[in-house]
Amino acid sequence: MLDSQNLLNSIDPKNISILSAKNNQDVLLNIKDLTVQYYGLKITVALFNINMHIAKGERVTIVGQSGCGKSTLLNVAAGFLKPALGTITIENKIITKPNSDRIVVFQEHGLLPWKTALENVMFPLIQAKKLSKEASIHKAKNALTLVGLHGLQEKFPHQLSGGQKQRVSIARAFAMEPKILLMDEPFSALDQITKNTLQDELLELCKHINATVFFITHDIREAIKIGNRIIVLSSNPGQIIAELDSAYGKSFEEVEHQKNKIEQLLGIK
Ligand code: ADP
Ligand code: MG
Repeated sequence: MLDSQNLLNSIDPKNISILSAKNNQDVLLNIKDLTVQYYGLKITVALFNINMHIAKGERVTIVGQSGCGKSTLLNVAAGFLKPALGTITIENKIITKPNSDRIVVFQEHGLLPWKTALENVMFPLIQAKKLSKEASIHKAKNALTLVGLHGLQEKFPHQLSGGQKQRVSIARAFAMEPKILLMDEPFSALDQITKNTLQDELLELCKHINATVFFITHDIREAIKIGNRIIVLSSNPGQIIAELDSAYGKSFEEVEHQKNKIEQLLGIK
């Protein structure tokens, strides 16, 4: 069986030059020479030699096929997983554990069923941020208003639609005012119409508060729509194979051209 070092030596590295941070950009998250492995009966190299950064106010999407290592990358950024090699920093400090400066929104809303929408948004404000009840109510109400749920704050999760539950979970994340919002396919369980609406709302919200977002998805159209910058990840192991400025907002043809290009890069066309 290959040991860890031989396994890494056997990987064919992709030659991709990544745009370096533009001079005037204020880098928030910096990923350098990152390799992540899972250790089980055999070693899986989930990510290999990842180099990328996210500047303040940027929305960066990672797109790649299922199993290519997207969640792994987000989990390292969240501090849930440690890299085998390389570093990941936020404001030049190495990430070693989860912290409320990085909040994750998952595909599943993760709301507590016995708490109302308002209480769900308040919960981490009290538990993690140690805010007073009054301050938490104020922040939670504002966040719910921002996602259009002002009138539904006393509802329990089972009284809300799938889209509404995910709005609560987005409000809960924004209320924490993280330095960066980490989103792991947050809309993939929703129907296409709801998904489109939530994408529009998220974009508006992000622009409104100049949020920094790291968003991963297997949906190419979604990656183009949400990101200012799109990073394309290959599979087995996950390696960056391209980095593109999003064509979203340009002509229909340009967006379609970018979608086709990403499909080709991913080998699905
Ligand atoms: P994605 O989010 O792009 O679908 P993941 O990051 O979940 O991909 O997984 C990347 C690779 O790592 C896959 O091959 C997956 O099987 C493997 N993997 C993920 N989590 C674990 C784990 N806890 N133990 C072992 N292998 C894992
Ligand atoms: Mg995943």
